[in-house]
Amino acid sequence: MPSPYKSVSFWLETCGDDLTPRRELTEDMEVDVAVLGGGYSGLWTAYYLLREEPGLAVTILEGEIVGFGASGRNGGWCSAGFPVSLPELARRYGIESTRRLHAAMIDSVDEVGRVAGREDIDIHYRRGGALRIARGEGQRTAVEQSYRAYENLGLAEGYRVLTRQQVEARVRVHTAEGGLFTPHCAAIHPGRLVRGLARAVERMGATIHERSRVVTFGERPELALRTNKAQVRARRAVVLAGEAYLSRLRPLHRQLLPVYSLIVLTEPISDRLWDEIGWAGHECLGSFRLTVDYLIRTNDGRVLFGSRGAPYHFGSRISPAFDRNGRTEALIRSLVLDWFPMLRGVRFTHAWGGPVGMPRDWMPAISFDPHRGMAAARGYTGQGVATANLAGRILADLILERASDLTTLPPVNRRSPNWEPEPFRWLVVRGMQRAFAHIDRRMERTGRAPSGRSIPERLARH
Ligand SMILES: Cc1cc2nc3c(=O)[nH]c(=O)nc-3n(C[C@H](O)[C@H](O)[C@H](O)COP(=O)(O)OP(=O)(O)OC[C@H]3O[C@@H](n4cnc5c(N)ncnc54)[C@H](O)[C@@H]3O)c2cc1C
Repeated sequence: MPSPYKSVSFWLETCGDDLTPRRELTEDMEVDVAVLGGGYSGLWTAYYLLREEPGLAVTILEGEIVGFGASGRNGGWCSAGFPVSLPELARRYGIESTRRLHAAMIDSVDEVGRVAGREDIDIHYRRGGALRIARGEGQRTAVEQSYRAYENLGLAEGYRVLTRQQVEARVRVHTAEGGLFTPHCAAIHPGRLVRGLARAVERMGATIHERSRVVTFGERPELALRTNKAQVRARRAVVLAGEAYLSRLRPLHRQLLPVYSLIVLTEPISDRLWDEIGWAGHECLGSFRLTVDYLIRTNDGRVLFGSRGAPYHFGSRISPAFDRNGRTEALIRSLVLDWFPMLRGVRFTHAWGGPVGMPRDWMPAISFDPHRGMAAARGYTGQGVATANLAGRILADLILERASDLTTLPPVNRRSPNWEPEPFRWLVVRGMQRAFAHIDRRMERTGRAPSGRSIPERLARH
């Protein structure tokens, strides 16, 4: 019988594991560090803790199987891009902190590749950079504005403005008018990374229990994670690393908004069509749409296209039923053909999606309170692949009480404001989603850049 988890995403289907769940937690136990969540955040934290202190007892509780969450579903961009833009970071935290965070993110892109090599996990790591394409005249202004903003911060050396011809020499995208390229991004196989990391931390001594959903947790002096069957008591720390799903735990309900990102995937494309498209550098591709689009060329020659266009669900509900959305998928399929008209007739073989965790101020929170014993890493919106690696290193330093350059970065030991209660939350978020789609359509129709001054654009400035 094939595992039902194979249908979660193409990545889990092709990660090479049979996906049989590991043993459920059925008996109480005591460890040094108990982690909620078998995604990148939980696993990286365990990895760096065990590298620093090999004798540490670390247990991970995963409600489904490792990689069930965003880490087994994402778009494969391992990028130095941070959920809050560099100019906005500089406004909030100053230029020096922004530069340090940017450097740490670039290092995280390298570090993911380094560890994969060291631990012998073949994640199909291709450091082809990221190319954001100006599709239509309206988006050309965005290229120039973005570049100028990086220049003002003294960070322009990591970016290159490309002309239409220079973009075309890399990849033939319909209506490409130019682009902004950065080398600090790699395309990866997300499923192989998350499943391989789990095996690596087990080799290092961690235990992982799957199908073990945490229903409550206790702080010091009752520091523990509890399922319906048993509990894991923790001597040093409990780590909450459940990203969007953390909103299902009452104390965190309004800290994160689950926003669905959906993906479609083509069949492997013929060499003839690849010759037409180009894209030999395997850059991660996107545009300047407010509704967000992200593309990669997979290792086996498919086009993956994702978008954050699916509607928010009242009450921050999360359900497997929302992983698919016929209307949004049809829209994304039409975008694929809009980008690459030569793909007309090519079959789409897979579609999936999942929630990303969005904080009210877009800023991830990576924290440890030694008095309560509670640690957490959350709120990456759609930029968690490299950021979760950084979070894992930061949490390990904080829990082991090691002062490092990383523990003074802006996301450390902070908390975002709560989202509004319902029905205001639904009204605001749906209103913003509609406004973004409208602004994108208008830009494409008129060829004029959005002003940046409309209320939704200002509310979403990040
Ligand atoms: C469709 C999609 C595309 C994306 N594309 C990109 C991209 O291209 N690049 C990028 O950088 N980021 C992307 N992201 C975001 C990125 O994947 C995430 O930010 C990152 O994987 C978060 O890792 P995590 O470990 O914090 O959370 P997750 O991977 O979501 O892991 C959390 C785990 O915790 C488990 N869990 C939750 N609650 C409980 C509980 N109560 N008890 C036990 N276990 C629990 C869940 O089952 C889950 O496995 C994308 C996300 C999605 C959904």
